[in-house]
Amino acid sequence: MPQSVSSLASGREFLAIPGPTNVPDAVLQAMHRPALDIYTGPLVELTDSLLRDLKRVFATQAGRCYIYAANGHGAWEAALTNVLSRGDKVLVLESGRFAIGWGEAARMLGAEVEILPGDFRRAVRPDEVEARLKADAKGEIKAVLVAQIDTASGVINDIPAISEAMRAAGHEALLCVDTVASLGCVPFEMDKWGVDLSMSASQKGLMTPPGLGFTAAGPRALEAHKKANMRTPYWDWTFRDGPVHYHKYCGTPPEQLLFGLRAALDLMFTEGEANVFARHRVLAEGVRRAVAVWSEGQTFDFNIAAPSERCDTVTTVITRGGDSAQPLVDYCNFKCGVVLGRALGKTEGRGFRIAHMGHVNAPMVLGILGAIEMGLAALKLPHGSGGTAAAIAYLAGELKA
Ligand SMILES: *Cc1c(COP(=O)(O)O)cnc(C)c1O
Repeated sequence: MPQSVSSLASGREFLAIPGPTNVPDAVLQAMHRPALDIYTGPLVELTDSLLRDLKRVFATQAGRCYIYAANGHGAWEAALTNVLSRGDKVLVLESGRFAIGWGEAARMLGAEVEILPGDFRRAVRPDEVEARLKADAKGEIKAVLVAQIDTASGVINDIPAISEAMRAAGHEALLCVDTVASLGCVPFEMDKWGVDLSMSASQKGLMTPPGLGFTAAGPRALEAHKKANMRTPYWDWTFRDGPVHYHKYCGTPPEQLLFGLRAALDLMFTEGEANVFARHRVLAEGVRRAVAVWSEGQTFDFNIAAPSERCDTVTTVITRGGDSAQPLVDYCNFKCGVVLGRALGKTEGRGFRIAHMGHVNAPMVLGILGAIEMGLAALKLPHGSGGTAAAIAYLAGELKA
């Protein structure tokens, strides 16, 4: 009798969690270098090139970018402390987990935080933002916090429409956008959309290991900065605008990560931003085609109800009956070597997330979908058959020979 198989997980692991994401070999190799001088030479030029090219990534001419040795939580704090004063009121637009988390940071830093209630299964409604801001006749709200993509719910918020709603309300609050799970994957146009302040991090769409946080500050944010009293030494933009290279990082720069980011941005620019966005859109739709077929079995569903509000970087799948998706996640992980994201926030334990963000291509996505479909079959979970085949058919139709 031949040996029966107990696992097919040996081989390269397929990481399908929505951050940290897969790091390209070129980025890893760019980081593999000795320490170098932090006052003169190549590192100074590297910083200049990164600050210039981050403006391109955020699509801002008018704005100024800052690089921190920090993750996304650090960049949240950087954004808040530079423009707010203690006691300022902040309006958080709920559409999942992450804007709420940003608001929790604001509260701890001394802001008064109001949440505009949303729903875990849909995007922020711009008309509700407009109505709330119109009601704030005294202009007490100083900043509006929103995530472009919420990585827990899998929603994409319409930032231009939210910006338009703020203008329609005639309100002066700063529009602050979390682009951690969207920058470098889907269009983001800071100047064109009237975004005042954006923050992001290295380890998702930007294909670099965790450890770099970014803020991009537009003219109105820089103006607010002058009066802000929440400023602290490490995050402070004024200090970082100082003349010495060392000031730009408020201390020792995270050297190797900066070389990694350089390589990642070069990859992105070589592919071309429009192509990067198209790749994300098409691969995401392939994933959605598969999930749509599987959901015919009535066991699973998309978390985001409206198809137009599902984002192109992560797909959140929930169980309809509230059952645990852990057996499926475990099968994919331990039997197949595919690491899916766990469900977060209101869907914790009752679903899973498929990341399709950053350094990802067709065979990676198809491999991930194929492993999930194996799991559905092996665990006898009711599902429409042919999800992966539907993804293949869709992708083949999009990608002409
Ligand atoms: C991951 C993420 C964060 C937090 O980033 P960390 O680096 O984990 O601190 C914030 N916002 C969004 C939208 C994210 O996806």
